[in-house]
Amino acid sequence: MSDYLIKAIAADGRIRAYAASTRLLVETARRRHNTSPTVTAALGRLLTAAAMMGSMLKGEDERLTLKISGDGPVQGLVAVSNARAEVKGYAFVPDVLLPPSPAGKLDVGRAVGAGTISVTRAIGVGEPFTGTCQLVSGEIAEDLTYYYAASEQTPSSVALGVLMNQNNTVRQAGGFIIQLMPGVTEEVIARLEERLRAITSITSMLESGMTPEDILTQVLGDMDLKILERVPTAYRCDCSRERTLETLAGLGKKSLDWVEKGLPTEVVCEFCGMIYQFEAEELREAIARREASRAAADDAPDGEDV
Ligand SMILES: [Zn+2]
Repeated sequence: MSDYLIKAIAADGRIRAYAASTRLLVETARRRHNTSPTVTAALGRLLTAAAMMGSMLKGEDERLTLKISGDGPVQGLVAVSNARAEVKGYAFVPDVLLPPSPAGKLDVGRAVGAGTISVTRAIGVGEPFTGTCQLVSGEIAEDLTYYYAASEQTPSSVALGVLMNQNNTVRQAGGFIIQLMPGVTEEVIARLEERLRAITSITSMLESGMTPEDILTQVLGDMDLKILERVPTAYRCDCSRERTLETLAGLGKKSLDWVEKGLPTEVVCEFCGMIYQFEAEELREAIARREASRAAADDAPDGEDV
């Protein structure tokens, strides 16, 4: 079954809910980056959150970036998504090996360590907006729950899980985000808290064969749950040779001083591993084109078409 997520409301629209099944997406990330099991779990949780949070964006050109910086051995993780729930991401150190946590689980909290989580939304034109807060546990779901409360004043329950097979491939992955909107009653909050307490883990729900619909039904089924939309989600990198060349050219001559000496440039995409090579001549031309268009824009008198 392909990965997808659902968007739903409950309690007269006072609750917003998202649930996702992301096994293939996380397995794709694992293969791309050759991550160790602990890092697969960390990156998989972050990618799953990014898929759901990306689907909350409105516009085609909007982007959401989740970034974790920690003092643990993995050092940091990045996940980027768009409104179509297409995600990509990477871990700074992909091959961290750690013994299981005292509870016998993959020790994501220790791999990440203490640090910060930030959420950046780039909404078309204009400066992107970034909110940052301290990590609570490094387990990611808890950190995002805290982020939503502290930074966006939106009480939320975030659950994220990745379960591995014996051979270190991804067996299950998924999660949910449930958010309280203004005007929610105490009675609804109490009922929701009771339901959430009864959940063992997101991976055990997925392992028992539950779909995202089943998961939200279990939590919100008697609270007037309405499933609004089903969105496919996948690991997809949108890098291209043209865009990479433009980004490089944007750095300008000074940052690329080897180009003047006629040396070629190689760029590796951090998200998908794609390698782009540019001869000095091609890069020189791109820089010249960019500088010419910038100069033309500066010199153009008002109203003159250039
Ligand atoms: Zn790429």
